[in-house]
Amino acid sequence: MQEFNLIIDGEKVSTNDYFDVINPADKSVVARCPKASVEQLNTAVAAAKAAFPAWSALTYAERRDKLMQLADAVEAKSEAFITLLTKEQGKPINGFADLGAGFEFGGTLAWIRSTASMELTPETIQDNDAAHIAIHRKALGVVGSITPWNYPLLIGIWHMIPALITGNTVVIKPSEMTPLTTLFLGEIAKDILPKGVLNVVAGAGEIGGAMSSHKDIDKIIFTGSTPTGKAIMKSAAENLKRLTLELGGNDAGIVLADADIEAIAGKIFATSFINNGQTCAALKRLYVHEAVYEQLCEAMTNIANSMKTGNGLDADTDFGPLQNEKQLEIVKALAQDAKERGANFLCGGEVVDETGYFYPITLVNNIQDGARLVDEEQFGPILPIIKFSDVEEAITSANRLSVGLGGSVWSTDIEKAQSIGSRLECGTVWINNHAMVQPDAPFGGVKDSGFGVAFGEAGLKEFTSIQTMQTSKS
Ligand code: ADP
Repeated sequence: MQEFNLIIDGEKVSTNDYFDVINPADKSVVARCPKASVEQLNTAVAAAKAAFPAWSALTYAERRDKLMQLADAVEAKSEAFITLLTKEQGKPINGFADLGAGFEFGGTLAWIRSTASMELTPETIQDNDAAHIAIHRKALGVVGSITPWNYPLLIGIWHMIPALITGNTVVIKPSEMTPLTTLFLGEIAKDILPKGVLNVVAGAGEIGGAMSSHKDIDKIIFTGSTPTGKAIMKSAAENLKRLTLELGGNDAGIVLADADIEAIAGKIFATSFINNGQTCAALKRLYVHEAVYEQLCEAMTNIANSMKTGNGLDADTDFGPLQNEKQLEIVKALAQDAKERGANFLCGGEVVDETGYFYPITLVNNIQDGARLVDEEQFGPILPIIKFSDVEEAITSANRLSVGLGGSVWSTDIEKAQSIGSRLECGTVWINNHAMVQPDAPFGGVKDSGFGVAFGEAGLKEFTSIQTMQTSKS
């Protein structure tokens, strides 16, 4: 069994306490994870603080060089990372449409390299006889990153790399459900980055809470649930920490009467069930015009019926298990509520294999707003398909919840789709697509889905504060 350690101040550090990381496909123990104490967190933060002056004083080119070396070193361990990711998270090595662990790992490399290639340069806003005025962007200091269990490696990279390239130092705490790939990454990084620049601690909510209230952490970037985001915001008040909060969503997709169902059914399926539905910006409520409702339900059912759910290590698996039992119970409860309301299950809906936390791909129609499956984020492989006759109803439905991460409109009339899309209350709207993110396009939520954005120049700026430099010329 692979051994894991915390990474603090460039060293592997063992702990007094450990907890087991469970493979959700068969409930076996993948490895023991070291459990950091609050004292060890404090040591990690102190190391990050001590490393900050030298790291932030480097040029972008110097920091980029280190991060590119990190990408190469991670790439050299591809197979080990991908297998470990499948074991701790459950997602298949390849999976449906090649959107499994290999996809997350490929994204990890792409995001390290493209984010490390970016740079914030001073912006001159006035240069005349009176003065030269420029906006400079300065690193904040120590960034605390708290990550979830759905894309542990990729989201860790989304947090760490923009923080590091802009000159901050980092303490990251992965989810206690999936800490291993992050610890492995830290172990590789310790031989490349200067001591203390990147520290990895592991533990549950109490370590996350201690980070949120830590006086020497200058910013928290958090991806996770809305209640935890709110708890972090409260405890961050103590030292006016900067925050980026990427919280839950319940994205609506609206399919208009003129949509080309044959062309889009596969894409709607893929973007609803990506990572077994355990994706912040997956399509989670599908509103379909009555003119194409039956056709789309049938096309999606046909796709669903050809899917195999199983152990992600098996080559022919399309979808793995839910990552943990709690999430499986949520999915089961939402399905039960839908059944009690008389909804129709086109496929799935029953647990058939209890070796792991498996739930089959499930499509539910004859369901309306107000059912728990529509109103609450399922974060699993079950999709409600709701019929509408008037697009205004669908827009109202899409906007009626407190969350607002993504949304989509599907139509052959692009102008009409864009005009409807602009009325959706969400941070990203896709036309004829959903859930797609890329390193140069800002991504974030509105309303209870949080604030701040990741990716692109806007994403880098989140890790800096403005210093306006006014040089008088008179
Ligand atoms: P889930 O319940 O699905 O695991 P969370 O949003 O609670 O989702 O977890 C996401 C991350 O937040 C994990 O790394 C978890 O350890 C951490 N976390 C949980 N509770 C707190 C808290 N009170 N403060 C800070 N981080 C927390």
